[in-house]
Amino acid sequence: MNKIIFCLAVYTFAVTAAEESAFIETEDGERVELVHDPCASRSYESDIALNDQEYNYLKTLSETSRKRKKPGRKKRAATSLKERVWENGIIPYVIEGNFSGVQRALFHKAMRHWENYTCITFVKRTNEVDFIAFTYRNCGCCSFVGRKGEGSQAISIAKNCDKFGVVIHELGHAVGFWHEHTRPDRDQYITVLKENIMDSQGYNFDKLESKLINSLGEEYDYGSIMHYAPNTFSKGGYLPTIRTREDPITGKRPEIGQRNSLSEGDIRQTMKLYKCPICGESLLSMTGEITSPNYPNFYGANRYCEWRISISPGEKISLNFTEFQIRENHNCEKEYVEVYDGTAHTGQYLGRWCGNKKPENILSSSGSRMWIRFVSDNINGRRGKFRAVYISICGGTITSRTAQIQSPQFPENYPNLKTCVWKIYAQPGYKVGLKFRNFELEKHSSCIYDYVEISEDEYSQPSTKVCGIDTPDPVSSSGSVLYVKFVSDKSVSKPGFSAEIFPEEDECNQPGPQPNPCSQECENTVGSYRCICHAGYELDKDKTTCKPACGGNIVELKGEIMSPKYPDLYPLNKHCVWKISAPEAYQITINILDIELEGKDACKYDYLQINSSDNEQLALYCGTTLPSKSITSENNIIKIIFHSDSSVPKHGFKLRFFSDYDECKINNGGCQQICKNTPVSRNCSCQPGYTLHQDGKSCKETECKYTFTAASGEFATPNYPKEYPMQKECTWHIITKPGHRVALRFITFAVEPHAECQYDYLEIRCGSPRVNRLDTTLCGNRNPSDIGEITSDGNEMFLVFRSDTSVNKPGFKVEYTSKCGGRLNASSQMHFLYSHAEYGDGYYASGLLCVWRITAPIGKKVRYRNNFFLIEDEGNCKFDSVTIRSQFDTKSKDSSLAVLCGKPIHNRNITSPTRFMEVVFETDSSVNDKGFNATYWAV
Ligand SMILES: [Zn+2]
Repeated sequence: MNKIIFCLAVYTFAVTAAEESAFIETEDGERVELVHDPCASRSYESDIALNDQEYNYLKTLSETSRKRKKPGRKKRAATSLKERVWENGIIPYVIEGNFSGVQRALFHKAMRHWENYTCITFVKRTNEVDFIAFTYRNCGCCSFVGRKGEGSQAISIAKNCDKFGVVIHELGHAVGFWHEHTRPDRDQYITVLKENIMDSQGYNFDKLESKLINSLGEEYDYGSIMHYAPNTFSKGGYLPTIRTREDPITGKRPEIGQRNSLSEGDIRQTMKLYKCPICGESLLSMTGEITSPNYPNFYGANRYCEWRISISPGEKISLNFTEFQIRENHNCEKEYVEVYDGTAHTGQYLGRWCGNKKPENILSSSGSRMWIRFVSDNINGRRGKFRAVYISICGGTITSRTAQIQSPQFPENYPNLKTCVWKIYAQPGYKVGLKFRNFELEKHSSCIYDYVEISEDEYSQPSTKVCGIDTPDPVSSSGSVLYVKFVSDKSVSKPGFSAEIFPEEDECNQPGPQPNPCSQECENTVGSYRCICHAGYELDKDKTTCKPACGGNIVELKGEIMSPKYPDLYPLNKHCVWKISAPEAYQITINILDIELEGKDACKYDYLQINSSDNEQLALYCGTTLPSKSITSENNIIKIIFHSDSSVPKHGFKLRFFSDYDECKINNGGCQQICKNTPVSRNCSCQPGYTLHQDGKSCKETECKYTFTAASGEFATPNYPKEYPMQKECTWHIITKPGHRVALRFITFAVEPHAECQYDYLEIRCGSPRVNRLDTTLCGNRNPSDIGEITSDGNEMFLVFRSDTSVNKPGFKVEYTSKCGGRLNASSQMHFLYSHAEYGDGYYASGLLCVWRITAPIGKKVRYRNNFFLIEDEGNCKFDSVTIRSQFDTKSKDSSLAVLCGKPIHNRNITSPTRFMEVVFETDSSVNDKGFNATYWAV
């Protein structure tokens, strides 16, 4: 709440054919025309082309509101909302294809919020003429008020509108609501401070005539989700544009602008506008119960009830009447229970029942919705009662061209102990394509808890088993059937997954004279294709044509290659490919002479990549560290790729290449294992687990010593899951980013048992190895992770495993992760603090809460400075934020030293007046960025 929401409820009318019509592509790949675009016109006061009827209507309205004179058209005194109301409360929708999975889930969640509290129903549009289209228009967050009619209408959700409450608000406009503060009687409740309103936004605060807005007898609702915030469209951000009236009894001013949920007033008003029956309800859970009014007592006369069951798309409803007794009447004409398969009485009629004859079979839906109504007539006398229960059934057979499947209750957390199997048939001439839109399951390295399994055959070994939080790559069947199985175990539940099913074809091999849409190379992907350009070309904006660019074909035996503009800053959004070709039996060697690219280890932003002739990656570089080794091609061709993203340009790279005859071609160059050609002669090397002998040719078994610097990973004892070797010593040194701690989780543990762990054992030192503080020694068969959490104090952890000369066990397998936050000590030396363990390689995660508590020695203060800072921007830092306080564990305003978000704030020192400083990094559910790195020290 209190976010600045640029929310325009504009009221435009159908324009003439002169206006260019816009098209959008939906999430299902369908092209639909956007008939009504709220951005096409600034406001209803604009001079736009209207049809005659609308023009006259608007003219009357507009004159009335300007001249404040009584309108002469009594006939239209009724609320204009009547014709803007959606028939049966059913609002068909489409979602534009370029929204992310998270955003789509958010829209569904907001729509279900409306459905949960009112009789409004949102259905995916099939062939309805009028429907809403979630899209992104220039006007930001905007929508029409009510049903516009004569075609689709946009509901625009821009970057900063993709918040749950804001989407509920925009849907409120589509349902038929104006802003609460534009009510004709608003002056009794609020004061609009015109002088603080941004120039040209004043019309958003105009009072509306009662013929346009009708509050249906409801009290002014400060808590309405349709109410502006106190500073909406404020000139200065903090200057109020709306002030609420003081409550005469309490002396308090009511709060406005909440964006959390529908208020009770919003719900009541919707129920009135859509004439929702008082009896009955919307049922959104996986299982539920329906009972007659007054149950278990008899129902009364003149009752009308409606129940709307709506479960996760892709699931089906099974409805069973367990008790049924309704007054017998001729043909069940006057008193009955009726069930429809679908959204309302527009769905497929399943039957009508009365008397003692309940439905013979359990009733099943074909989709995820069922609609039930009960009517009793006005005759007094003996009555009855009934009760029905429903369950949702997941999985099933899919034969349609496209479909959506998802875990039960998605995007809410899935239930425990659930198994769903989908059998999906391909369309003739196609294969089954499956693309995950959202994916978040319980994480396990072998996916033994909750998982999704994809296979080609019901009985065969699964071809893919996935879990965790990384969205799996799209898959396609090799034959005509694909099985998808979802399994959840008895604990830990997550939002689950949603996936699209579509006909998959090979776009790169179409029949006809033009087999593929690319001007050069075409690579088929699941659900799509990708055009690839030859060296020296880059893909044009149309994504199919290749145009000349940086890079090129090189046939010289030696030379130099540099990034564009080197040594000046390289341009943004560049992708250059150089292909070097040498004579047969030659190898090409590359030495990097200078490198400065954005990024550090994962090289996700800018990179220099060296690929083999068949595009296998040989090396990937970013950052500023010069590679210690040169790169040599496997054959006579090598490719060099330089890529820059849309921000942070650096000086780039310079490399030298030369071609050389390959000595390894004869007798493996004398090497026992691996021979690599070098400029002067050749180099021998060994396979993993071996090191090179002093003779430079033969290989011997290697020692067991590892250092990990990635944010997470896993490792195991040698030979795992077979027995570990005797007399072995292994060390693992885990280093994460400063400001983060290392957490261990043993997946399995079996080490020779002994009371003091004197035979085989694992030592864990939670300080750094230099401190050499022995923290714990483990052996035996009990998994240490079942006993307690193992987390380091600092950003390093050191493990030593030793085995003696007898009794071998499988050893252990362990995974480690980085945990943010912790206690830190400030000294006169500078220490670093990173927002997230993947800093420099990737964006920070959603839903973080990291708390660092820094203490300086007595008599000193803590000083903090950002070296790099880039987190989601919002005027009041309500989305993602870094809060710095002078006390630990307090929310008091006095202790706040700074609240930071947005763009880089370099070199600003923040000093705590005490010897304590608390740094809290919080992130919301969307929009992640590169994070921050900071320095702290004692002064
Ligand atoms: Zn609005």
